[in-house]
Amino acid sequence: MTLHIPFDNSYAALPDSFYARVKPEPVKAPTLIAINETLARDLGIDGLDDPNLAALFAGNAIPDGASPLAQLYAGHQFGQYNPQLGDGRAVLLGETIGTDGIRRDIQLKGSGRTPFSRMGDGRAWLGPVLREYVVSEAMHALGVPTTRALAAVRTGEVVVRERPLPGAVLTRVAQSHLRVGTFQVFAARGDTKALQTLFDYAVARHYPDAPDPVSFLNAVMRRQAALVAHWLSLGFIHGVMNTDNCSISGETIDYGPCAFMDSYHPETVYSSIDRYGRYSYAAQADIIVWNMAQLATALLHLMPDPEASVEPFTAQIHTMPDMIRAEWLRKFSAKIGIAEPTPEDAALIGDLLTLMQNAETDFTNTFRGLVDGTARDQFTDPTGFDAWAARWQARIVSEEDPLGRMSAANPLLIPRNHQIEAMITAAVNGDDAPFARLMTAYATPFAANSNVDDLRSPPAPEEVVQATFCG
Ligand code: AMP
Ligand code: MG
Ligand code: MG
Repeated sequence: MTLHIPFDNSYAALPDSFYARVKPEPVKAPTLIAINETLARDLGIDGLDDPNLAALFAGNAIPDGASPLAQLYAGHQFGQYNPQLGDGRAVLLGETIGTDGIRRDIQLKGSGRTPFSRMGDGRAWLGPVLREYVVSEAMHALGVPTTRALAAVRTGEVVVRERPLPGAVLTRVAQSHLRVGTFQVFAARGDTKALQTLFDYAVARHYPDAPDPVSFLNAVMRRQAALVAHWLSLGFIHGVMNTDNCSISGETIDYGPCAFMDSYHPETVYSSIDRYGRYSYAAQADIIVWNMAQLATALLHLMPDPEASVEPFTAQIHTMPDMIRAEWLRKFSAKIGIAEPTPEDAALIGDLLTLMQNAETDFTNTFRGLVDGTARDQFTDPTGFDAWAARWQARIVSEEDPLGRMSAANPLLIPRNHQIEAMITAAVNGDDAPFARLMTAYATPFAANSNVDDLRSPPAPEEVVQATFCG
């Protein structure tokens, strides 16, 4: 069989100024690492037994119906506006409409240079490709809106980073790759016509019920508030919440130096480039508001009288912290078994988090321990926890099936940094068995499975990952 992707491309029909038509650069010796068969089927793709699969997902061959292009965007990187970024190492092959009726992008990442590459080589090395594959699929299994991983290939070429490393290409699937930065680029250029075209496209594709800039902004804010609260509830730290990595669809996008925290501390940072903690665990709730303010600033240009719209847009942005607090409360209440939280429950949750922070307990295992009765064991001195647990028990007596609710909100497994690192080290040495094992384990993160109990352990002191990198 030959691979068949039922392309139905809409972005390629937008004006030329939105992208550069560019083909992936062929690689020397592509070999397939993984193909996500379930996802492929959901996207309407068949012919997965094509012997040419590695070449197709490396960009050496272009599947029928693709219209490859690199998208233009700009963005604030660590607060500094960069007027032109764009896909410097990615190519959008096209879109498919899945069995669920949703249109999705199929994009190669690490597929060579484009007109937006600037100083970059257009490539990715194996480590970040496998990291994104594993973590994005784990996020999906955890129930978090996210881009997906369709395929990964080795290129047979060397990529030079801090040392020579094996190259790879990831095939990424997203509801779209529209970013806050896609709006910013046209707004900053004063190209209102392009901005309006982009807006109409984004409304049709993602928010048909929000056809004006004000309701559109509100709809994006709602999805982002829910998304970031979901991240916080799982201990996820995105690491590079630049506005170009902030998706209009409300999906987690661009897995770079992301990480799940082991022991709980709100100021946790892993990313080696986040020197001032701008994107630390807890800061994410503030940064997403800042990012939405940048979207609002761009959308202002669509208003008949932008000057007069500053106030209503600003007022709307000011509603977002409460929106996030409400989502946070819902998510964390579920983690302690509460269905309909009251404002007082925020203090109950906050007190547990303070105890966890002081005792440096493992975030994932402490919450899961509330389900199986082992949370107390996380504390060297359980006095404070015991007092908290008494209040908690009194609060949840009236709840229906708190255990069921907690079991569904507190995973046993998250992709831990040291496991990801060990998996990458093995893959660099040609052993993909740890990758396959992690993929299987993380597919059911809420289910107890004694075969993967070792994956529940926090890192030993010598295994602790101090910093993560972009790749
Ligand atoms: P990121 O921080 O990963 O979102 O990337 C920021 C910008 O740098 C985007 O425009 C990327 O396309 C670009 N970029 C990152 N790595 C490379 C690379 N190796 N070659 C070319 N462009 C890159
Ligand atoms: Mg990016
Ligand atoms: Mg990136």
